[in-house]
Amino acid sequence: FEVQIGALPMPDGSGVSALLFLRDLTSARRLEAMRVDFVANASHELRTPLATLIGFIETLQGPARDDAQARERFLEIMRVQALRMTRLIDDLLSLSRIELREHVAPTAVVDLAALARQMVDAQGPPAEARGATIRLEEGAGPFVVPGDSDELARVIENLIENAVKYGGGRISVGLAREDDPRLGPRIVLSVVDDGPGIPPEHIPRLTERFYRVDVASSRARGGTGLGLAIVKHSLNRHRGRIAIESAVGEGTTVRVSLPEYGTAALPPPADQAGP
Ligand code: ADP
Repeated sequence: FEVQIGALPMPDGSGVSALLFLRDLTSARRLEAMRVDFVANASHELRTPLATLIGFIETLQGPARDDAQARERFLEIMRVQALRMTRLIDDLLSLSRIELREHVAPTAVVDLAALARQMVDAQGPPAEARGATIRLEEGAGPFVVPGDSDELARVIENLIENAVKYGGGRISVGLAREDDPRLGPRIVLSVVDDGPGIPPEHIPRLTERFYRVDVASSRARGGTGLGLAIVKHSLNRHRGRIAIESAVGEGTTVRVSLPEYGTAALPPPADQAGP
Protein backbone atom coordinates (compact mmCIF):
# COMPACT_ATOMS: atom_id res chain seq x y z
CA PHE A 1 0.00 0.00 0.00
CA GLU A 2 1.03 3.58 -0.60
CA VAL A 3 0.16 5.63 2.49
CA GLN A 4 -0.47 9.39 2.54
CA ILE A 5 -1.47 11.44 5.53
CA GLY A 6 -3.25 14.76 5.21
CA ALA A 7 -4.80 17.34 7.51
CA LEU A 8 -8.07 19.17 6.95
CA PRO A 9 -9.11 22.13 9.14
CA MET A 10 -12.68 21.79 10.45
CA PRO A 11 -14.98 24.44 8.89
CA ASP A 12 -16.04 25.71 12.30
CA GLY A 13 -12.41 26.24 13.33
CA SER A 14 -12.79 23.71 16.15
CA GLY A 15 -9.69 21.77 15.17
CA VAL A 16 -8.09 19.69 12.42
CA SER A 17 -9.16 16.29 11.00
CA ALA A 18 -6.47 13.85 10.03
CA LEU A 19 -6.90 12.05 6.71
CA LEU A 20 -5.25 8.75 5.89
CA PHE A 21 -5.06 7.67 2.20
CA LEU A 22 -4.26 4.06 1.39
CA ARG A 23 -3.66 3.13 -2.25
CA ASP A 24 -3.43 -0.51 -3.30
CA LEU A 25 -0.31 -0.75 -5.46
CA THR A 26 -0.28 -4.51 -5.83
CA SER A 27 -2.44 -4.66 -8.94
CA ALA A 28 -0.55 -1.76 -10.59
CA ARG A 29 2.77 -3.48 -9.81
CA ARG A 30 1.49 -6.81 -11.06
CA LEU A 31 0.41 -5.25 -14.36
CA GLU A 32 3.78 -3.54 -14.73
CA ALA A 33 5.62 -6.82 -13.97
CA MET A 34 3.46 -8.60 -16.58
CA ARG A 35 4.29 -5.96 -19.17
CA VAL A 36 8.03 -6.22 -18.48
CA ASP A 37 7.82 -10.03 -18.65
CA PHE A 38 5.94 -9.84 -21.92
CA VAL A 39 8.53 -7.59 -23.57
CA ALA A 40 11.36 -9.81 -22.29
CA ASN A 41 9.64 -12.96 -23.57
CA ALA A 42 8.82 -11.47 -26.96
CA SER A 43 12.41 -10.23 -27.38
CA HIS A 44 13.78 -13.62 -26.43
CA GLU A 45 11.44 -15.41 -28.85
CA LEU A 46 12.55 -13.13 -31.69
CA ARG A 47 16.20 -13.30 -30.79
CA THR A 48 16.45 -17.08 -30.97
CA PRO A 49 15.63 -17.46 -34.70
CA LEU A 50 17.57 -14.29 -35.44
CA ALA A 51 20.70 -15.74 -33.82
CA THR A 52 20.29 -18.89 -35.95
CA LEU A 53 19.90 -16.77 -39.08
CA ILE A 54 23.02 -14.74 -38.33
CA GLY A 55 24.98 -17.93 -37.64
CA PHE A 56 24.02 -19.44 -40.99
CA ILE A 57 24.65 -16.22 -42.91
CA GLU A 58 28.15 -16.07 -41.45
CA THR A 59 28.76 -19.74 -42.31
CA LEU A 60 27.60 -19.11 -45.87
CA GLN A 61 29.89 -16.12 -46.17
CA GLY A 62 32.84 -18.11 -44.80
CA PRO A 63 33.41 -21.88 -44.50
CA ALA A 64 30.44 -22.99 -46.64
CA ARG A 65 30.90 -20.39 -49.38
CA ASP A 66 31.69 -22.91 -52.13
CA ASP A 67 29.71 -25.88 -50.85
CA ALA A 68 26.60 -26.02 -53.05
CA GLN A 69 24.93 -28.81 -51.03
CA ALA A 70 25.43 -27.11 -47.67
CA ARG A 71 24.14 -23.87 -49.19
CA GLU A 72 20.81 -25.48 -50.17
CA ARG A 73 20.41 -27.05 -46.73
CA PHE A 74 21.29 -23.87 -44.87
CA LEU A 75 19.02 -21.72 -47.00
CA GLU A 76 16.11 -24.02 -46.16
CA ILE A 77 16.87 -23.73 -42.43
CA MET A 78 17.07 -19.96 -42.80
CA ARG A 79 13.72 -19.88 -44.59
CA VAL A 80 12.09 -21.87 -41.76
CA GLN A 81 13.56 -19.54 -39.11
CA ALA A 82 12.45 -16.44 -41.00
CA LEU A 83 8.92 -17.91 -41.27
CA ARG A 84 8.96 -18.52 -37.54
CA MET A 85 9.77 -14.86 -36.92
CA THR A 86 7.01 -13.80 -39.30
CA ARG A 87 4.47 -15.98 -37.47
CA LEU A 88 5.52 -14.55 -34.15
CA ILE A 89 5.27 -10.94 -35.36
CA ASP A 90 1.86 -11.67 -36.94
CA ASP A 91 0.62 -13.14 -33.65
CA LEU A 92 2.00 -10.23 -31.62
CA LEU A 93 0.24 -7.78 -33.93
CA SER A 94 -3.03 -9.75 -33.78
CA LEU A 95 -2.87 -9.80 -30.01
CA SER A 96 -2.29 -6.07 -29.71
CA ARG A 97 -5.07 -5.29 -32.22
CA ILE A 98 -7.48 -7.51 -30.30
CA GLU A 99 -6.48 -5.93 -27.00
CA LEU A 100 -7.14 -2.46 -28.40
CA ARG A 101 -10.70 -3.52 -29.30
CA GLU A 102 -11.23 -5.60 -26.20
CA HIS A 103 -13.70 -3.15 -24.63
CA VAL A 104 -15.63 -2.41 -27.81
CA ALA A 105 -18.65 -4.71 -28.06
CA PRO A 106 -18.99 -6.35 -31.49
CA THR A 107 -21.83 -4.93 -33.58
CA ALA A 108 -22.28 -7.68 -36.21
CA VAL A 109 -23.86 -11.13 -35.91
CA VAL A 110 -22.10 -14.35 -36.82
CA ASP A 111 -23.46 -17.76 -37.79
CA LEU A 112 -21.07 -19.96 -35.84
CA ALA A 113 -22.20 -23.10 -37.68
CA ALA A 114 -21.23 -21.63 -41.07
CA LEU A 115 -17.95 -20.39 -39.64
CA ALA A 116 -17.14 -23.76 -38.04
CA ARG A 117 -17.94 -25.52 -41.34
CA GLN A 118 -15.59 -23.16 -43.20
CA MET A 119 -12.79 -23.74 -40.69
CA VAL A 120 -13.24 -27.53 -40.68
CA ASP A 121 -13.22 -27.59 -44.52
CA ALA A 122 -10.10 -25.42 -44.66
CA GLN A 123 -8.21 -27.35 -42.00
CA GLY A 124 -9.26 -30.87 -43.05
CA PRO A 125 -6.61 -31.43 -45.76
CA PRO A 126 -3.60 -30.06 -43.78
CA ALA A 127 -4.79 -32.08 -40.76
CA GLU A 128 -4.95 -35.24 -42.87
CA ALA A 129 -1.39 -34.59 -44.01
CA ARG A 130 -0.47 -34.78 -40.31
CA GLY A 131 -2.45 -37.96 -39.76
CA ALA A 132 -5.52 -36.37 -38.13
CA THR A 133 -9.17 -36.29 -39.16
CA ILE A 134 -11.65 -33.57 -38.23
CA ARG A 135 -15.39 -34.13 -37.99
CA LEU A 136 -18.07 -31.51 -37.43
CA GLU A 137 -20.95 -32.54 -35.17
CA GLU A 138 -23.69 -29.95 -35.27
CA GLY A 139 -26.68 -30.16 -32.99
CA ALA A 140 -29.93 -28.50 -34.04
CA GLY A 141 -29.13 -24.90 -34.93
CA PRO A 142 -29.21 -22.06 -35.61
CA PHE A 143 -26.10 -21.04 -33.68
CA VAL A 144 -25.95 -17.30 -34.05
CA VAL A 145 -23.95 -15.00 -31.79
CA PRO A 146 -23.15 -11.29 -31.70
CA GLY A 147 -19.56 -11.11 -32.89
CA ASP A 148 -16.79 -10.18 -35.24
CA SER A 149 -16.52 -12.95 -37.81
CA ASP A 150 -12.76 -12.55 -38.43
CA GLU A 151 -12.00 -12.77 -34.73
CA LEU A 152 -14.31 -15.73 -34.14
CA ALA A 153 -12.87 -17.49 -37.19
CA ARG A 154 -9.44 -17.06 -35.63
CA VAL A 155 -10.69 -18.48 -32.32
CA ILE A 156 -12.02 -21.62 -34.04
CA GLU A 157 -8.93 -21.88 -36.22
CA ASN A 158 -6.55 -21.68 -33.24
CA LEU A 159 -8.45 -24.35 -31.31
CA ILE A 160 -8.56 -26.74 -34.28
CA GLU A 161 -4.89 -26.06 -35.04
CA ASN A 162 -3.95 -26.93 -31.44
CA ALA A 163 -5.99 -30.14 -31.58
CA VAL A 164 -4.15 -31.09 -34.80
CA LYS A 165 -0.69 -30.01 -33.57
CA TYR A 166 -0.78 -31.49 -30.08
CA GLY A 167 -3.69 -33.90 -30.11
CA GLY A 168 -3.69 -35.55 -33.52
CA GLY A 169 -5.84 -38.62 -34.17
CA ARG A 170 -9.58 -38.05 -34.28
CA ILE A 171 -10.77 -34.52 -33.72
CA SER A 172 -14.37 -33.50 -33.43
CA VAL A 173 -15.79 -30.01 -33.48
CA GLY A 174 -19.22 -29.70 -31.91
CA LEU A 175 -21.87 -27.02 -31.63
CA ALA A 176 -24.68 -26.99 -29.12
CA ARG A 177 -26.98 -24.65 -27.24
CA GLU A 178 -26.87 -24.50 -23.47
CA ASP A 179 -28.83 -22.66 -20.82
CA ASP A 180 -26.35 -21.40 -18.26
CA PRO A 181 -28.11 -20.64 -14.96
CA ARG A 182 -25.95 -17.54 -14.43
CA LEU A 183 -25.11 -16.33 -17.96
CA GLY A 184 -28.32 -17.25 -19.81
CA PRO A 185 -28.59 -18.96 -23.21
CA ARG A 186 -25.18 -19.72 -24.68
CA ILE A 187 -23.81 -21.29 -27.84
CA VAL A 188 -21.06 -23.78 -27.02
CA LEU A 189 -18.38 -24.73 -29.49
CA SER A 190 -16.23 -27.66 -28.45
CA VAL A 191 -13.05 -29.04 -29.96
CA VAL A 192 -12.23 -32.53 -28.75
CA ASP A 193 -9.11 -34.55 -29.49
CA ASP A 194 -7.95 -37.98 -28.39
CA GLY A 195 -4.28 -37.02 -28.11
CA PRO A 196 -1.85 -37.27 -25.20
CA GLY A 197 -3.67 -34.68 -23.07
CA ILE A 198 -2.29 -32.00 -20.75
CA PRO A 199 -1.12 -32.54 -17.14
CA PRO A 200 -3.58 -30.73 -14.82
CA GLU A 201 -1.04 -28.33 -13.29
CA HIS A 202 -0.57 -26.60 -16.66
CA ILE A 203 -4.22 -26.06 -17.50
CA PRO A 204 -4.87 -22.82 -15.55
CA ARG A 205 -1.88 -21.14 -17.25
CA LEU A 206 -2.43 -22.16 -20.89
CA THR A 207 -4.04 -18.86 -21.91
CA GLU A 208 -1.08 -16.80 -20.62
CA ARG A 209 1.11 -15.33 -23.31
CA PHE A 210 4.05 -17.58 -24.19
CA TYR A 211 2.99 -20.29 -21.75
CA ARG A 212 3.65 -23.71 -23.27
CA VAL A 213 3.64 -27.17 -21.74
CA ASP A 214 6.71 -28.09 -23.75
CA VAL A 215 8.50 -25.23 -25.49
CA ALA A 216 10.53 -27.45 -27.83
CA SER A 217 7.49 -29.39 -29.02
CA SER A 218 5.50 -26.15 -29.53
CA ARG A 219 8.35 -24.68 -31.60
CA ALA A 220 8.79 -27.85 -33.62
CA ARG A 221 5.09 -27.66 -34.53
CA GLY A 222 5.27 -24.01 -35.50
CA GLY A 223 3.66 -22.71 -32.28
CA THR A 224 4.34 -19.23 -30.94
CA GLY A 225 2.81 -19.66 -27.48
CA LEU A 226 0.30 -16.89 -28.25
CA GLY A 227 -2.56 -18.90 -29.77
CA LEU A 228 -4.65 -19.34 -26.62
CA ALA A 229 -3.84 -15.81 -25.39
CA ILE A 230 -5.33 -14.51 -28.66
CA VAL A 231 -8.37 -16.75 -28.09
CA LYS A 232 -8.82 -15.49 -24.52
CA HIS A 233 -8.66 -11.80 -25.43
CA SER A 234 -11.06 -12.26 -28.36
CA LEU A 235 -13.46 -14.04 -26.04
CA ASN A 236 -13.27 -11.19 -23.50
CA ARG A 237 -14.58 -8.88 -26.19
CA HIS A 238 -17.39 -11.31 -27.05
CA ARG A 239 -18.34 -12.01 -23.44
CA GLY A 240 -17.20 -15.54 -24.12
CA ARG A 241 -15.76 -18.13 -21.77
CA ILE A 242 -13.19 -20.85 -22.32
CA ALA A 243 -12.90 -24.09 -20.38
CA ILE A 244 -10.13 -26.63 -20.96
CA GLU A 245 -10.51 -30.17 -19.69
CA SER A 246 -7.91 -32.80 -20.27
CA ALA A 247 -6.93 -36.27 -19.14
CA VAL A 248 -3.36 -37.44 -19.74
CA GLY A 249 -3.38 -40.35 -22.19
CA GLU A 250 -6.99 -39.72 -23.19
CA GLY A 251 -7.27 -36.34 -24.81
CA THR A 252 -8.34 -32.74 -24.45
CA THR A 253 -11.65 -30.92 -24.74
CA VAL A 254 -11.74 -27.16 -25.19
CA ARG A 255 -15.15 -25.57 -24.81
CA VAL A 256 -15.88 -22.01 -25.77
CA SER A 257 -19.25 -20.49 -24.92
CA LEU A 258 -20.73 -17.26 -26.26
CA PRO A 259 -24.00 -15.47 -25.57
CA GLU A 260 -26.68 -16.47 -28.05
CA TYR A 261 -27.74 -13.63 -30.34
CA GLY A 262 -31.06 -12.07 -29.51
CA THR A 263 -31.12 -13.31 -25.93
CA ALA A 264 -28.53 -11.03 -24.36
CA ALA A 265 -29.13 -7.37 -23.64
CA LEU A 266 -27.04 -6.11 -26.53
CA PRO A 267 -27.70 -3.27 -28.94
CA PRO A 268 -29.09 -4.47 -32.30
CA PRO A 269 -26.41 -5.14 -34.92
CA ALA A 270 -25.49 -2.04 -36.91
CA ASP A 271 -23.92 -4.01 -39.71
CA GLN A 272 -25.17 -7.52 -40.43
CA ALA A 273 -22.32 -8.20 -42.85
CA GLY A 274 -19.62 -7.66 -40.24
CA PRO A 275 -17.14 -4.84 -39.70
P1 ADP B 1 1.28 -22.61 -29.20
O1 ADP B 1 1.56 -21.53 -30.17
O2 ADP B 1 2.48 -23.10 -28.49
O3 ADP B 1 0.46 -23.71 -29.79
P2 ADP B 1 -1.04 -21.96 -27.56
O4 ADP B 1 -1.25 -20.74 -26.72
O5 ADP B 1 -1.99 -22.18 -28.69
O6 ADP B 1 0.46 -21.89 -28.04
O7 ADP B 1 -1.09 -23.23 -26.62
C1 ADP B 1 -0.32 -23.25 -25.44
C2 ADP B 1 0.13 -24.65 -25.11
O8 ADP B 1 -0.98 -25.45 -24.71
C3 ADP B 1 0.76 -25.41 -26.27
O9 ADP B 1 2.12 -25.09 -26.41
C4 ADP B 1 0.55 -26.86 -25.83
O10 ADP B 1 1.58 -27.22 -24.94
C5 ADP B 1 -0.75 -26.81 -25.03
N1 ADP B 1 -1.93 -27.30 -25.80
C6 ADP B 1 -2.85 -26.52 -26.42
N2 ADP B 1 -3.81 -27.27 -26.98
C7 ADP B 1 -3.50 -28.56 -26.71
C8 ADP B 1 -4.12 -29.83 -27.02
N3 ADP B 1 -5.26 -29.91 -27.72
N4 ADP B 1 -3.50 -30.96 -26.55
C9 ADP B 1 -2.36 -30.88 -25.83
N5 ADP B 1 -1.73 -29.72 -25.51
C10 ADP B 1 -2.30 -28.57 -25.94
